Amino acid sequence: MSRQNGLMASPLQMEFVTSADRAGTLPPTVAEVAIVGRSNVGKSSLINSMANRKGLAKVSNTPGRTRLLNLFSLKDGGAIMDLPGYGYASAPKHMREGWAEMIEGYLLERDSLEMVMVLVDGEVGPTKLDIQMLDWLRSMEIPHTVIATKHDKVKASRRDQRKKDLAAGCHLEPRDVVWVSASKGTGIDRLRSLVLTWLS
Ligand code: GDP
Repeated sequence: MSRQNGLMASPLQMEFVTSADRAGTLPPTVAEVAIVGRSNVGKSSLINSMANRKGLAKVSNTPGRTRLLNLFSLKDGGAIMDLPGYGYASAPKHMREGWAEMIEGYLLERDSLEMVMVLVDGEVGPTKLDIQMLDWLRSMEIPHTVIATKHDKVKASRRDQRKKDLAAGCHLEPRDVVWVSASKGTGIDRLRSLVLTWLS
């Protein structure tokens, strides 16, 4: 639960704007934070949790259901881009390639892009595709931050070690990774504040 006091960011006031199948057709924004991650990593749940609105981004147990670039505007200015989940293993190869093209096109072309939140499943750790995404973002010098999801699914006794291992798997220091739980609200206020900072 988020508490509103001086140190906490209140829920992000977000509205869905539009979906597009390529970056070129999106309306311009002044500043944008994009969210990327493999299907089922908890992306929709995280967006809903940041906005404190169930159903804003569709939560689905069907991996890869979000197949378009989904743009949300923030009342305080700026926008959030919900990118299609990658790594939908059972999708035909040409479709997977289409998604990669859509995601990469957006990440390379979007002038207002300030930060990419790379969601990594906190329980599972970085997958091969997560590492590929991180390597690619580094090689393109696109600013990005790793967000580890599902903090509540890691047993308390194993958390310290998991935090070290997940960070090391991403070639980062533990302090560079933001841990969240959409279910329990852990880390959500901090992430809201970070998003507002990136957009300001
Ligand atoms: P997306 O495909 O990345 O948008 O993932 P979803 O938000 O649809 O979540 C995938 C599954 O993980 C759903 O069953 C969610 O209920 C579950 N999930 C998402 N976030 C959390 C979390 O913080 N904790 C737990 N325990 N489950 C979560």
